[in-house]
Amino acid sequence: MDLEELSREILTCAKCPLHKYRTNAVPGEGSMKLGIMVVGEAPGADEDRTGRPFVGAAGRLLTEALARLGVSRWDVYITNVVKCRPPNNRTPTREEVEACLPYLLRQIELLRPRRIVALGLTSAKTLLSLVGKRVEKMGDVRRRCFRGRVAGVEVEICATYHPAAVLRNPRLKEEFMGDLAAFLGGGLERFF
Ligand code: URA
Ligand code: SF4
Repeated sequence: MDLEELSREILTCAKCPLHKYRTNAVPGEGSMKLGIMVVGEAPGADEDRTGRPFVGAAGRLLTEALARLGVSRWDVYITNVVKCRPPNNRTPTREEVEACLPYLLRQIELLRPRRIVALGLTSAKTLLSLVGKRVEKMGDVRRRCFRGRVAGVEVEICATYHPAAVLRNPRLKEEFMGDLAAFLGGGLERFF
């Protein structure tokens, strides 16, 4: 099974109720040029319409933030914890996350990232639980990276705000940019 086959499988998946509401599942896109995966929560309306991750307002913020750091969005692999849009962009349920998680794990197995950037609490909670770290709130883990073995891959999982949270609260932008700079370029302030 390669990444393209996996993406095709995701496009026709019906393993959880979210398949009933979607226009398009959103497997992910990008490359492993930098060895980095960027993982959001779930597709929104624009992503559902186009089948591409992070192409709406939050996506533009993410794409521009990366560009300001000298990184094209195509130099990282961008995906989400859940591959289909939850109605009204509600947070995916535990059951939906559990149903979809095998796809993220297979993506990690195939892409073998050295680092995963978790955007927002849902992503941070889900990914850090895989390395035995319980997360209650973003403030507990933000700007930090945790090493562990996920899907047979030695990886660092690093958490920051979701770009949609930065859109809602522009005062978070400086921290968000600093986090991304640290995660993409090294120079981490705190490393666990
Ligand atoms: N928000 C997400 O978490 N993922 C997307 O792909 C778009 C918006
Ligand atoms: Fe399948 Fe994931 Fe979509 Fe649910 S969210 S239908 S598990 S691809």
